[in-house]
Amino acid sequence: MIEVKAISGYEKVGRNMTALRVDDKVIIFDMGIDLENYIKLVGEDDISKISVKRLKTAGAIPEDAFMEDWKDKVIAIVITHSHLDHVGAVPFLASKYKAPIIATPYTIEVLKKIIKENSFHVKNEFKVLNPNSHINIGGIRIEFVNATHSTPQTVMVSVKTKKGYVVYANDYKLDNYPVLGRKTNMKRLKEMGEEGVLALIMDSTRAREAKKTPSETVARDMLRDVLLGVNHKGKLVVVTTFSSHLARLKSIIHFAKLMNREVIFLGRSLFKYCTAGDDIKLTNFSKKVKIIGYGNKIRRFLERMRPEDRGKYLLVMTGHQGEPNAVLSKIAFGKIKFKFNEGDAVIFSCRVIPTETNIENRKELEDKLLEQKVRVFKDIHVSGHGCKEDARDLINALKPKYLIPSHGNLDMRVGLKELALEMGYSESKVILMDNHTSTSLDE
Ligand SMILES: [Zn+2]
Repeated sequence: MIEVKAISGYEKVGRNMTALRVDDKVIIFDMGIDLENYIKLVGEDDISKISVKRLKTAGAIPEDAFMEDWKDKVIAIVITHSHLDHVGAVPFLASKYKAPIIATPYTIEVLKKIIKENSFHVKNEFKVLNPNSHINIGGIRIEFVNATHSTPQTVMVSVKTKKGYVVYANDYKLDNYPVLGRKTNMKRLKEMGEEGVLALIMDSTRAREAKKTPSETVARDMLRDVLLGVNHKGKLVVVTTFSSHLARLKSIIHFAKLMNREVIFLGRSLFKYCTAGDDIKLTNFSKKVKIIGYGNKIRRFLERMRPEDRGKYLLVMTGHQGEPNAVLSKIAFGKIKFKFNEGDAVIFSCRVIPTETNIENRKELEDKLLEQKVRVFKDIHVSGHGCKEDARDLINALKPKYLIPSHGNLDMRVGLKELALEMGYSESKVILMDNHTSTSLDE
């Protein structure tokens, strides 16, 4: 018996959780939060005082009541990567399943830091599994296939069943020139395709975009262009990006050195994700840059900067989505006694994640920066999600019997379905699931 339950992440982007039943064993893929709903609910409050029930009602974490009849069968909770929409709900949901949490070293390290930072209690055992390796658990072979994305050590998960592999690919891109880490392991994916893949549960976020997602080296070139190709002499240069995007941070450090500038990382989440990378020896950022994680120290550093030193630094700070409590917004809105001067540069090495809150926050922030005559450089970025032509290549490599589009709203998932139909799949083999539905893959 092989059955998939869509718990969450099948109606909008975020809050991912899927379960796979193979006979009497169940494997959970991801336990993520909806960051927007989560922040709306938690705000400045103490998260430990907010109940799981309230988090569920607010749509911040997956409603897993639909898992009740499978609860005692769960043998593993597998987390694909360190993004909060994949790992963030572990502290709230994992403990009720008597199963280990399996993830790559980087993901486990980030998870441990999240747990420690918030004094969460997670009872489950942690099992570290490297990309491109496998584990046998409860008689089932679970394999991690290395995938490129926008945070290190992202994996596709493959579960071996008698009817073929079931592969879970959220999130991925097919970057042949990654800046950090290895390429997506297409060789192994093709091998599995030859052996037989029963189903592919697949990221559909960008499936409608008719292109191949550019490599991270393209973002690196864009950064080179705005850092080395623009005269910033004597001016302050600020870059803001995703804290978990260690490859991007690596490029920023590289160009800052060529500019003869000292790099300072400012912000709590930068501290968390970078020290996680250093702790497992994936990176050695703390040898190359100064990382200041906490409020008072950040304030002190900025307030004590001498005017003649502004051209000697490159500051990387949190706040790329205009988050009001991040370092960049605090400076722009005068909550820290440190001012931007005319001609200083703020480089947004990201895109605006299109939620109402982000769009509003970013607009207010940019307006404020422009008012202070700051030079704003937007969208110095490439995505971590595969587009239509990547999706085609992945489907061609794995040749799954069934395709289950996930990680997207209905329109995105229909986009992936249309591609599959174009590739010759019949309607019945492409399964559009909604949250809290299940589908049997036995026929
Ligand atoms: Zn992701």
